[in-house]
Amino acid sequence: MHILLKSGGFYEYAILWLLVSILIFLALREVACWYWKVNERIELQQEQIKLLKTLVRGLSLPNDSGQKITENQPNITAQPPVSDRICKKCNFKNKPDDMFCNNCGNKL
Ligand SMILES: [Zn+2]
Repeated sequence: MHILLKSGGFYEYAILWLLVSILIFLALREVACWYWKVNERIELQQEQIKLLKTLVRGLSLPNDSGQKITENQPNITAQPPVSDRICKKCNFKNKPDDMFCNNCGNKL
């Protein structure tokens, strides 16, 4: 009888200690979350995800029309013809950037 009462008291204390420790853990967890701004970070990350998703949606629509722009891009790059500057005086092939003939010095 004495042993049963003692053991019952032990279990009660154990459960009480467990509950108190859980409460302390939750309280410390809240403090830690507040201190490291965990909740704020999660909210900001969720907001970032939302904004990125809207960005992707916004970009995916112009991409359909943007494909035409990408089709035009090679034409734009091909538009300036890479023609050598041929001297009228001596028919020497100069570079496109040259202002004067590299052979005779004539103005191109
Ligand atoms: Zn020349």
